[in-house]
Amino acid sequence: RAKSMGKGRVVFFEKSMQTHTPGTLALETDLRRALERGEFHMFYQPIVSLETGEIAAFESLLRWDHGRHGMIPPDRFISMAEDMGTIVEVGQWALEQACTQLSAWHQMGFDQLSVSVNVSAQQFYHQDLNGVIRGVLARTGLPPELLKLELTESILMENVAANVAMLQSLRDIGVQIMIDDFGTGYSSLSYLHRFPLNSLKIDRSFVKDIPENQENAAITAAILAMADQLGLSVVAEGIENEAQLLYLWDKHCHLVQGYLFNQPLTRDQATAALYKRETVALFSKLTQAVGPS
Ligand code: C2E
Ligand code: MG
Ligand code: MG
Ligand code: MG
Repeated sequence: RAKSMGKGRVVFFEKSMQTHTPGTLALETDLRRALERGEFHMFYQPIVSLETGEIAAFESLLRWDHGRHGMIPPDRFISMAEDMGTIVEVGQWALEQACTQLSAWHQMGFDQLSVSVNVSAQQFYHQDLNGVIRGVLARTGLPPELLKLELTESILMENVAANVAMLQSLRDIGVQIMIDDFGTGYSSLSYLHRFPLNSLKIDRSFVKDIPENQENAAITAAILAMADQLGLSVVAEGIENEAQLLYLWDKHCHLVQGYLFNQPLTRDQATAALYKRETVALFSKLTQAVGPS
């Protein structure tokens, strides 16, 4: 399993497995101090255009380098930070990091690049998300449309009318809204058109074994067709092999993200990836082998 997840992932898991799993209580105490101790690091995973093979965007993904316990994955600490309420501060830090980094890439000439930032439930319901985002955009000078907020369906379905208004206030700033892990939540299709959305991210679980798994292939194709009708762009998550890529390319999916191209990268690795343009070479090689879509 580790092998298929790529080189960096192997190190990542080995490092955290060397130490015993710390208890929740101890971790909570440490989590409170993690921000001031500078233990959070932002990683960036390329999102690749299926028209050009270029890196069109990065998803910013948090990592907690605990030191004593090694790297603690977000699935372990985000919900904890959410319960503790510290996610609001951590989330603000994440936004600031991602926008500062995007601004640096723009200054290097990568001015079409955008960044997406995951927003947790607490952060979304917190009264001042709008103000926080305006502040970050003002400080970094980024064009607002290059910041994309990833929200899950369950966040949006909690209180539809209030959330429609909240999303609209964010759209009024100019930022883009994406639904993350699309298909895994409780969203009713009849509500989808009420939210002012820009894109959907098809959850990795549907993309996992396409095209062999015919049900997943059908669901993926249906999401793509529906998004097209609703005027939404689509990102497919968790692309690990060529067969998945070619299926999505054939179905005119716009963007893909996954270990086939890159795992989440450090800031410097991400910068190197922008200059090297290896995704373009791989994309051309794979798609030229089967001819035009
Ligand atoms: P997500 O937003 O759905 O992020 C995608 C996850 O899929 C990431 O896990 C990424 O490393 C992983 N992934 C990407 N490509 C592949 C692939 O080809 N195969 C497989 N097996 N996995 C792939 P990660 O970084 O562990 O993050 C897990 C979750 O933690 C994220 O899921 C997101 O919900 C949350 N998270 C991460 N960073 C932040 C953050 O800054 N703020 C908030 N609120 N949540 C975050
Ligand atoms: Mg996400
Ligand atoms: Mg996701
Ligand atoms: Mg996911």
